[in-house]
Amino acid sequence: KKTPVTLLGLGAMGAALARTWLAAGHPLTVWNRTPARAAALAADGARPAETAAEAVAANTLIIVCLLDDTSVDEVLSGIDLAGKDLVNLTTSTPAQARARAKWARERGARYLDGGIMAVPPMIGVPEAGGYVFYSGSQELFERHRETLAVPVGTTCVGEDAGFAALYDVALLSAMYGMFAGAAHSFALIRKEDIDPAALAPLLADWLIAMAPAVHQTADQLRSGDYAKGVVSNLAMQVAGTPTFLSTAEQQGVSPELLNPYFELMRRRLAEGSGEEDLTGVIDLLVR
Ligand code: NDP
Repeated sequence: KKTPVTLLGLGAMGAALARTWLAAGHPLTVWNRTPARAAALAADGARPAETAAEAVAANTLIIVCLLDDTSVDEVLSGIDLAGKDLVNLTTSTPAQARARAKWARERGARYLDGGIMAVPPMIGVPEAGGYVFYSGSQELFERHRETLAVPVGTTCVGEDAGFAALYDVALLSAMYGMFAGAAHSFALIRKEDIDPAALAPLLADWLIAMAPAVHQTADQLRSGDYAKGVVSNLAMQVAGTPTFLSTAEQQGVSPELLNPYFELMRRRLAEGSGEEDLTGVIDLLVR
């Protein structure tokens, strides 16, 4: 028999999650602030609840997928959560997640926080490779592991309720760095007779080829030896930065995305770290 699920929040993400539990045969109670969205799912077999309190009372496993932590507060305040298994998939900061875990425990609920590493079209499509980072109550995670794995993969990152949010933001932050680099790259060819579609596959392959460098970074951070296994030392890399800046200038491209990183590289070099590679930049960021 499939575990019954209550889902609060039927936005783009919530609705995608809901469809997978229904398709897998889980009894599903839903609630959404705007009732029309719940009514739309009723045709697929979901049971719409009149109020959030009624939806929470219906089942033990309560999944929340609302806009932000403030909306979670608005929806759940005053509702009896005693004995509930509360899984919060709403994007939050680590501090918000930890506070929410404490808040839930004080109300007699077990708490698991989730950070969704997928967009709605990836939900229910295992080959798309999406997953959710989970952290918090390991007991809750083990108990509902199969149900949680229905919409998308699961990666549990421990007892600290803040870790799911932290891993989520850590990965997305690196993604923005990658997008920033790609933006500069496309800008460089913008005024030339070069098809962006010709650059794109070269760029994608290069980013993929360079990505494993993060393993060396991790290895250096763990050992504390930032000169370990260095292939392209910092002195050489800093010596190369004028080439990048002059090329940007020649192409009429602002260096504003490159400059902050180059500045950190120069500062690290000035500290006498020319034999290292780029790992020392991390220590300049950590205050
Ligand atoms: P949507 O904007 O599509 O939906 C937001 C949901 O929150 C709706 O159900 C909305 O209700 C509800 N809501 C907003 N404010 C309140 C409130 N004050 N009280 C009650 N309900 C409220 O967002 P998504 O579904 O896309 O996102 C939901 C969560 O999933 C977010 O935390 C988001 O960061 C996360 N996420 C989304 C991804 C995406 O690509 N979409 C990817 C990864 C994570 P109503 O229908 O009444 O407006």
